[in-house]
Amino acid sequence: MLITYYEQSLINVMFKILELKRTERLSIAQIQNLQAKRFRKLLRHVLQCSRFYKSYYNQHGINIENIDSISVTDLPPISKQMMMDHYDDFVCDRSLKRTNIEEFLSGSAKPKEKYRNSYTVIHTSGSCGTISLFVYGPEDWAVIKALVVARVVNSVPRVTRKVKFAFIGATDGHYAGVSLASDVPEPLARFLPLSINSPLEIIDHKSNAFYPDVLSGYSSGIYLLAQEQLKGNVAIRPERIICTSDPLTHEMRHTIKQAFGGEPINFYAASESLSMAAQCERREDLHMFTDWHIFEAVDDEFRPVAAGSPGNLLLTNLYNYTQPLIRYQMHDEVVINQQPCGCKLPFPIMRNVAGRQEEFLWFDTADGKRDYLHPIVLVELFVAGLKKFQVIQTQRNEMLMKVMVEGNQAAVLAAIRRRMQEIFSGKKLDTTVKLNLEVVQDIPNDPITGKYKLIIPLKD
Ligand SMILES: [Zn+2]
Repeated sequence: MLITYYEQSLINVMFKILELKRTERLSIAQIQNLQAKRFRKLLRHVLQCSRFYKSYYNQHGINIENIDSISVTDLPPISKQMMMDHYDDFVCDRSLKRTNIEEFLSGSAKPKEKYRNSYTVIHTSGSCGTISLFVYGPEDWAVIKALVVARVVNSVPRVTRKVKFAFIGATDGHYAGVSLASDVPEPLARFLPLSINSPLEIIDHKSNAFYPDVLSGYSSGIYLLAQEQLKGNVAIRPERIICTSDPLTHEMRHTIKQAFGGEPINFYAASESLSMAAQCERREDLHMFTDWHIFEAVDDEFRPVAAGSPGNLLLTNLYNYTQPLIRYQMHDEVVINQQPCGCKLPFPIMRNVAGRQEEFLWFDTADGKRDYLHPIVLVELFVAGLKKFQVIQTQRNEMLMKVMVEGNQAAVLAAIRRRMQEIFSGKKLDTTVKLNLEVVQDIPNDPITGKYKLIIPLKD
């Protein structure tokens, strides 16, 4: 208990921040050594503590005896499906059980609330539609917080008052963005969650009243706020703007700069690791935090692509000892460049090519306006028993959800309806949008792109 208390303390995060700052002064070769050392330590840990990894790696001839001759590329990749199918064997903490965690999630809407007072639980359906869980122990979570403070937020604490920190995104559940943002240390900062799923006038009003120093959140949410500011509905001057989750396009970047005066910082984070890379001060590319991750860009057969060419991202998260991800298939396309950036940071640079491709769904509201359902609300939807889904807008005010469910079908369908109704009513769409549910056995990928389409908007 005492250990948990220290791990969750601000002092632990502070020490980690100092260590991260020291790492930034290392050479490229020193960082590679640090990465290799951390990789071997994690590999030893999973072979000892995860039944899934042990048996999976043993099948590929990898065991604790030959561990020193193994490099990351010798290991077979893992998928989200494998992880979720073997969840209880996958995690390194034997006390964690998928059913219990899902039960906790069903009853807890507060993103700050920890599972058994110590574990941070994140859920997502991601862009591939399969519902998944990511659990971080207190020590893992402290690394994330330190990474974000040291390399992303970079905000100097005020002497006279707390820093005002706002986050715009999905806020009513254990989603990655809000779980992280709402965990800002209370002695240093005040926090305002802005739900992307509330009517625009409420978002405007709350932003004006709070007047944030730091504005963070989904790129599309910050872009909406920027447009509101240009229309005269919002008047704020955040000193630091941090965009994440969905792609920050040139157009969005330009509008945000025009509205708020400052350059937005692009930040790459996902449920699989909540702090992977952040934009360089001097250019639009992102510096990958290679002291705590291994990033590989590969083709469809998991062979490395040439440096500078687009590839699928395989992620190894070196700090999560609770639910370790080693060569985990992300559904992101990236370009990794090994050339030094030219600034003083020793981390290589990357560009996120496609990112999420979901689109906004527009409907008529009860008072005759048009309003959107944000794709992230669907990307991060969680209902216990809902395994996989796809949303298709079939009419101007009608949508079809194809769902794959497990357990008591009637109860799961009722829970999906309840959750969707809550989401619709947040946007005053509950009386206008008709929701149809169809239970299916399989949802195939798009035959043309080969990729999974979570959302299919209405074609005009
Ligand atoms: Zn740089």
